[in-house]
Order: sequence, then C-alpha cells, then structure tokens
Amino acid sequence: MKAIINLNQLVTCSHTSSKAKRGPEMNDVGVISNGAIIIDNGLIRGVGSTYSLQKTIDKIPKENIIDGKGKIVIPGFVDSHTHAIFAGTREAEFAMRLQGKAYMDILLAGGGILSSRQKLIDSTDDEIIEQTKARFDRMMAFGTTTVEAKSGYGLSTEQELRSLELLKALSDRHAIEVQSTFLGAHAIPPEYKDSKADYVSLVCNEMIPIIASKKLAKYCDVFCEKGVFDVEDTERIFETAISHGLELRLHSDEIEALGGTELACALGARSVDHLIAVTNSGLKALEKCETIANLLPGTSYSLMKTFAPGREMIDRNIAISLSTDCNPGSCYTESMPMIISLACLNMKLTPAEALNAATFNGACSLGIQDRVGSLEMGKEADLLLMDMQSYEAIPYHFGINPVLRTMKFGEWIS
Ligand SMILES: [Zn+2]
Repeated sequence: MKAIINLNQLVTCSHTSSKAKRGPEMNDVGVISNGAIIIDNGLIRGVGSTYSLQKTIDKIPKENIIDGKGKIVIPGFVDSHTHAIFAGTREAEFAMRLQGKAYMDILLAGGGILSSRQKLIDSTDDEIIEQTKARFDRMMAFGTTTVEAKSGYGLSTEQELRSLELLKALSDRHAIEVQSTFLGAHAIPPEYKDSKADYVSLVCNEMIPIIASKKLAKYCDVFCEKGVFDVEDTERIFETAISHGLELRLHSDEIEALGGTELACALGARSVDHLIAVTNSGLKALEKCETIANLLPGTSYSLMKTFAPGREMIDRNIAISLSTDCNPGSCYTESMPMIISLACLNMKLTPAEALNAATFNGACSLGIQDRVGSLEMGKEADLLLMDMQSYEAIPYHFGINPVLRTMKFGEWIS
C-alpha cells in the first residue's frame, strides 16, 4: 500500500454518473483540500482529506508515503485523438505553411499525409518503434496515462496492418495504455486517385475484416473532408466497421462541414473530432446524442486557423473532450497541459471545464470511464503529482511541464 498525503488539492474529476459531463457539470472537478489518496495493487483504495484517511495512513510504511504539501494530484490525462505512430517529421512543411501555403494544397501536391506514408514505407520496424516510443515517453512525462493512437500513414493493407501490429508490439511493453484505431481512410493513395471507390472497397472488403479478426484495433476512423472521403464513403466504411464489431470515431468538419457529424451521431460514434467548421445542424445532432465532440485546439494553433466553438458547445450541453491530435503534419505536440491552456485561452473554457475534458470526458470518448479518467474508489490509480497550488495554474503557467511525476496503475512511470 502507498499514499500521497497533505496535498494542497486532490482533484478527483469524479462524476456521479457514468455518462460524460455536460454543461454546468463541467465546472465541477471535485477538489478536496489537504487531500490524500491511498493506492494498493494498482487501484485506488482511499480518496479524501488527509485527516479523514489518517487511520489507514498510519498503517502504511513511512517509505511508501509521499508528502504532497504545496502540490496537487489530478487524474492522468486521457489523450483520445493522436496519430502517434509515424516515421520522420515534416518541419519543412511547417515552414511552407508559415509562408502561406494551405494544408490541403500541400496534401494535394503529394506532401502531407502522403509524404509521411513514404517515410513509413522507407523506415524499418525498429526505427518506427523507436520514434513512437520516444513520443509515448514524452506523453507520459507530460502526464498522459492513456492514449488513443491511429494508423493511417500506411494506406495499403500491408502497411496499415504493419502500423497496427507495431503499435501493439510497442504498447505491450510500454507503460502507457494504448487504445488503437484503424484509419485506413486517412487519405486517398495516389494509385487510387481516379478510382476512389476502389480504395474504399479495399478498406471495407480487405482491411477492416483482417484488422477486426486480428483484434488490432478497437475503433474505426475516417477523414471525412472535401476532396478526401465524403459522407457516402464514410457511411459505407462505418457500416462495414460496425458489422465487424469496431466502434466509430470520425474526423469531421475540420475544414468544411459535409454532414459527417450528423452521420456519426446517427450511427452512435464514440466521438466526432475537430469540428472547427461545425454547423448549427451538426451542433443540434451533438446535443441529442452520446457522441462526444473531441476538440483539438493544438491543430487550430499550429495551422493558424480558427478554433472549434468549445464555449458554445458546453453552453449547449454538448459533451466535449480535449486531445492533442499529435501528428507530424498539422499538430506536433505531446503536451496535454499545452492543449488545456490553448482551450482556455482560445475557446474560453474555464480551467475546470478544460481539465474535465482532458480526463473524465476523454475516457468517456474511449468508453473506458469505468476504469480511468477520474480518481475514485476502485478505479485504476492513474494520477499526476503536479508542482502547483491549484489546478487553475495548469493553463495559466503555460509552456512549461507542470508534471513532477506520472503514476500508471499504481506505479510511477515518469
Ligand atoms: Zn487527427
């Protein structure tokens, strides 16, 4: 048994319901002053004030107790949208964007996702694993204990399978928890430029059945955007994914709204992600369903674009989460504290709303909120010890790493 005691704040992010937090619930992060948390066998065995837990704390050997005076503990971050498995980086395109080139122009000129595809093909398994491991290590150092990671730079059966297999091999021996998503429909490969329907058929008839049978992914995602995959393609891929037992996530309304959000809501997707260009019709669909609006303010920041209407969504009782979108093109960061800061400053979220979106609601978007995302009795001990007096300092003191130590399933991993 171990404990952290005398914490200035123990921030639980707990919720009375197993559903995502919405509206005013987002402003409740469950702060316990002079807090303590007790951990045993990877699970949380006590949450409360140090005073209320004193009898149990007295039984724990001194060397297993951390004095958290002047510090806080919060749940580990759940980063529920990343493209973390990739080879090489694309800083040259970043420089091009600064000179005014549009992201979609770079993609259509063979750059963007297609250049990452070439780098993936040209890299050895060891190189891809090593680079992805370094990213996971940085994520843990910045407080992420659970990460969703997508394929989508392979764009062929062989390379998509390879990406997901490497992701599984790495996650099996890495402390961070990985939730895998198949994103074969991330871009149209050049060899299918004039026969997109054939590529969609390949995704549906070959890739999804193999990936589902090998249990290499829990979710299926599509990049639903003008010039890439339209709503009809998305529907075809999603119907196939459902029939093979995969859950749905969707890149939607990043640049233009095509109706993907409404489709994803109708099909019971776990999340709809980006939503920079969401319409009133999309917002209405999100109001009425359990699908979570997964917002990625780092992408708006890095692409120098407008931000998704996070404030309006919370005010309209739409459930939102926050994620990094860590990828080599439009947003290269592993830092959830940075994302929380961007969400507060650019979407006008309160620090409490942003923290709930980055923890409990992130877990809801992955359907794992019964285990992780908040600090409650019986849940897994995924938590962060942070060097601050209050959680409100997370967005306030930006550009630094406020995480002193990261705990996953009861063990310090960073
Ligand atoms: Zn993405």
